[in-house]
Amino acid sequence: MHFSTRRITAHTTYPFHIARPGASVDGSVVRRIVVSVEHDGIVGMGEAAPSPYYNQSLEAVEDVVSQLATKPALVGDDPFLIRAIVDRLLEQFGQHRSAIAAIDAALHDWVGRKLGQPVWRMLGLDPSVTKPTSMTIGIGSPDEMTERILAASAFRSLKIKVGSDHDAETLSLVGRHAPHARVRADANAGWDPGQALDRINALREFPIDLIEQPIPAGRSDELERLHESSPLPIFADEDCVVPEDILELAGKVTGVNIKLAKCGGICEAVRMIHLARAHGLQVMLGCMAETSLGVAAAMQIASMADVVDLDGHLLLADDPFSGLVLDGDRVLPSDRPGLGVVEVMR
Ligand SMILES: [Mg+2]
Repeated sequence: MHFSTRRITAHTTYPFHIARPGASVDGSVVRRIVVSVEHDGIVGMGEAAPSPYYNQSLEAVEDVVSQLATKPALVGDDPFLIRAIVDRLLEQFGQHRSAIAAIDAALHDWVGRKLGQPVWRMLGLDPSVTKPTSMTIGIGSPDEMTERILAASAFRSLKIKVGSDHDAETLSLVGRHAPHARVRADANAGWDPGQALDRINALREFPIDLIEQPIPAGRSDELERLHESSPLPIFADEDCVVPEDILELAGKVTGVNIKLAKCGGICEAVRMIHLARAHGLQVMLGCMAETSLGVAAAMQIASMADVVDLDGHLLLADDPFSGLVLDGDRVLPSDRPGLGVVEVMR
């Protein structure tokens, strides 16, 4: 098995502002790495979307993949042994889960191509039951946000980043320009725990379905108190990275946002979904600002999620890959083998 990397760049349709310093999406430029595995004349591909927030970087992804050539026992020579390979990689490179996610995706793509079947079929899943995705409306001026809300008129659910002093104005714009839309409000760990309940209560007049990560990560007891008193469901995102986090969050939130780039790929995400269900947590499946290649990996298991937030590729003006289907406001995987994604020739 031969693994290789190459960097790719894409651009978001609208500038993307995230409150956190060091975010991997800066303005409108999205930098990602395609990890390829070549074996037996077949090539599988996966995308790495490292996030500095989780101490991930493009350089670290390249470093991990380059080490596979010098440590052949880590991956072996049978791409079908995905679970065993991923377990060894987690042991060796547990801090670099976006790299492992890309390797996991490339192996799934390879096996699907080898068998001539889409990955969701290999996993025994039925994409026809996949929930609609929400569409992210990035923060901008009122005119910019109005344009984005109107452009998202096909989506019943909008993801709004909250945490500024303008939240009520922003949500009023949704009410005015998308009166039938429901809202998922993402605070990205931005609220002071002492003020979070007041912040949530101040938004009660708006059609909000859930609040994502209202307070900084690592304060699960405060999250639990907020969950107990909040009139709205609370979902953990920044607090929910790896399977062990599910155990800490059990009973303290309504649900968890699982992302392949955080946890290490399809194998780990499936493990987390089962863990979350066993602990009575709802499952949201999310993504980073990823191309169709990265979102396609998550899309294979999206039918397992209660809440789907897989719009990364829809935010791009020049997605370098194609293959996902957009049916109204539902994103679906294709019927093609593997991840079902092909590179767009420009
Ligand atoms: Mg979030």
